[in-house]
Amino acid sequence: MATLERVDVQALSPARLTPVIGAERSARFEAVAAVGRGLLAGRTVLNVNSTATGGGVAEMLTSLLAYVRGAGIDTQWDVIEGNPEFFKITKRLHNHLYNSPGDGGALSSSERAHYEATLADNVPALLEDVRPRDIVLLHDPQTAGLAARVKEAGATVVWRCHIGVDYMNEHAELGWEFLRPYLEPVDAFVFSRAQFAPPWLDRTRLHVIPPSIDPFSAKNEPMTPDDVVVALQYVGIIDGGGHQPLATFTRRDGSPGRIDRHVDILQTGPAPPADAPLVMQASRWDSMKDMAGVMTAFSEYVTAQEVHLVLAGPSVAGVTDDPEGAMILHDCMDTWRKLPARSRRRIHLACVPMTDSDEAATIVNALQRHSTIVTQKSIAEGFGLTVAEAMWKTRPVVASAVGGISDQIVSGVHGILIDDPHDLGSFGEALNRLLDDGAYAKQLAESGHQRAINEFLGDRHLEQYANLFAQLES
Ligand code: UDP
Repeated sequence: MATLERVDVQALSPARLTPVIGAERSARFEAVAAVGRGLLAGRTVLNVNSTATGGGVAEMLTSLLAYVRGAGIDTQWDVIEGNPEFFKITKRLHNHLYNSPGDGGALSSSERAHYEATLADNVPALLEDVRPRDIVLLHDPQTAGLAARVKEAGATVVWRCHIGVDYMNEHAELGWEFLRPYLEPVDAFVFSRAQFAPPWLDRTRLHVIPPSIDPFSAKNEPMTPDDVVVALQYVGIIDGGGHQPLATFTRRDGSPGRIDRHVDILQTGPAPPADAPLVMQASRWDSMKDMAGVMTAFSEYVTAQEVHLVLAGPSVAGVTDDPEGAMILHDCMDTWRKLPARSRRRIHLACVPMTDSDEAATIVNALQRHSTIVTQKSIAEGFGLTVAEAMWKTRPVVASAVGGISDQIVSGVHGILIDDPHDLGSFGEALNRLLDDGAYAKQLAESGHQRAINEFLGDRHLEQYANLFAQLES
């Protein structure tokens, strides 16, 4: 029998958001929360996914659930236990839903049998946490196969899929056929974008709710420019010798933390100087994020010698449900080694230690804030939390016009979108445009910041959940 990880969920008062969203919006949220408390009295909203750290879902649940608790609604978070073969299959499934064959392996009866057996192993522990009338939110393909058993226990089952493509090819169709039998008992489906739902999915059960970010988490909390430089110099991402002052941050529980670890960096020569313009992408080492494409485009098109590129991803040992990470990192390192020496000098690959999630978040926070341009050159993307984070931090974004990113940014207004994610020339051109025209970059970044406040914060997100739960009751 598998052991579930029960993630510690804090309680944060949603009133914390008031300085950002204003009194009126805050009062409206409190009214929604009051209705939610009535609706969910004596019930638990249980979230189930496959990792407590690494990637957007874990990032988002950590903050969002704390606000739910802070609003007086009981919520819990369980992480299922998998095994390497299970995560190989679910990563394949993940890639298929992004129109890609992934590792090229099959999704046939033996994969189905392994998927079902692994989930069946998790059922006894999971059902200890499920009572009739609870709402169970199953996240992503890894947990879809639990729906029937949770439903039998008398709970309402919502399946939230964070990934997808606008136009499915044969790989996505195969991935969806794999999942289809598990989805029948589901009461409601949540997607970040309506187009991501497969054509056969019952539209009456379909709800669109995009993700959100927390402006006060260690990932997004304000940092002064001095703190940013101190943190990045300490971890080794930017150059700066001598005695290092302490780089501190606020932990999720409010206690002070200190950066103790260094980032693992592949580079020739010194790290970028503190005043060098920096292009940066922070992503999991995943083929859909196309870190290698960012590198190649930067090398070929951004010729100004003072500009540096940092590609940052989690240390590959840190993300348990992503077996592809090490391989993609090695591919990136290979691409890097083949670049001309003049490019290698300006391109830095960084692996952020994940042992302490608040520390890791602070490092990414500093890196995003220090960047002249943040990129998200994804081949496919459900919703780019990295894009929302950069917009919140008033950084100009260059990203691919794929999936959820097309909803996040209006190109030329909140950032620049590249229509074809494989078009390195247009990507490089957009970087040069923003590097050359600081006033335009600033204008995009400022309207991006405003959009992040209007659309990407937790009150909007939780209000949509409250509406969904109310509909499920009616
Ligand atoms: N991230 C991180 N460390 C890294 C790279 C990324 O903490 O080294 C975070 C990033 O800041 C964002 C999340 O991981 O919060 C990625 O979410 P996104 O929606 O962009 O992509 P996903 O990983 O879910 O596909």
